[in-house]
Amino acid sequence: MFSPTPAEIQGLIAHVDQAIYNHERWYDDLVTTLVCRLSYDEKDVDDEAFRKCRFGQWLYGDGERMLREHPSFPAIEGQHKRMHQLAARLLRNAAAGTPTALGDYEVFASTLRHMRLEASTLKRELEDLRSNLDPLTGANNRIHLLTFLRGLQALVKRQVMPCSVVMVDLDHFKAINDTHGHLAGDRVLVATARYAMNHLRPYDKVFRYGGEEFVVCMQNAGVELALLVIDRLREGLAKTPIYHNEVLTHVTASCGIAAVDPEVSVEESIERADQAMYTAKAAGRNCSRTWESSHPAD
Ligand code: GH3
Ligand code: MG
Ligand code: MG
Repeated sequence: MFSPTPAEIQGLIAHVDQAIYNHERWYDDLVTTLVCRLSYDEKDVDDEAFRKCRFGQWLYGDGERMLREHPSFPAIEGQHKRMHQLAARLLRNAAAGTPTALGDYEVFASTLRHMRLEASTLKRELEDLRSNLDPLTGANNRIHLLTFLRGLQALVKRQVMPCSVVMVDLDHFKAINDTHGHLAGDRVLVATARYAMNHLRPYDKVFRYGGEEFVVCMQNAGVELALLVIDRLREGLAKTPIYHNEVLTHVTASCGIAAVDPEVSVEESIERADQAMYTAKAAGRNCSRTWESSHPAD
């Protein structure tokens, strides 16, 4: 699952930008070398040139680790490698006095264009991804919550699968801020979002709804299954040590669960989850309640 933090996405965008910029300059130098019949740079004819250029060094290290799961990784990797191999052939031929064949040059130029297109597409996709995330916690931004829930509601309406919506509100969060400071509070928010994202199924989405409130949208889970999953998550979160400047804190959450109901608006389903969350607060916090348990169907 490709789920980098906003800071990691920023780093990826910087590297893709650098790849685009470096290869523009590299291409200019290459054309100058070919046209003016200058002697080439040894590193450009190395069989491993694609690994040794600055972008290659990053791509086969941190880049591969971070981008392996991204659908454009194999394409950008393949085009970049091929482009360097074709360039090496052009340079070797030119140095041997063989005129550059039009076909060879065209294949090289088209590979370069593909590589640029792949890099620009990847950059745009990363920017979109970043704009969908809450900058502090890396959870999804709430602006896409209603759209996402409407998508789930369509699945429920077509009886493809049941879905649930969960309101998660941290307990006595203000006290954490008051005792340890706002930055420690921020750290707790980040740790909570990361814990939830790492322990839910990839298609269960976590949204930051407000200050210390998160909404979890669960696919293929009716309220009973959602309750089981959320209780396991809640218990795990309560046991998770959270450090800020070597100061240890713990946090608990109260959770309210409601079915994504095909008969009411998704806003109403969120409202139900919110009401259930307040029932959990009233029951003593660090527990979960379903809206359905206090509104049994006739
Ligand atoms: P309860 O158990 O009833 O939910 O109590 P609570 O203290 O969690 O709830 P309350 O609504 O009283 O306080 C929420 C606090 O969350 C108040 C606000 O200052 C803090 N907060 C909101 N957004 C952020 C943020 O981004 N960072 C930090 N550190 N604090 C935030
Ligand atoms: Mg709250
Ligand atoms: Mg709270």
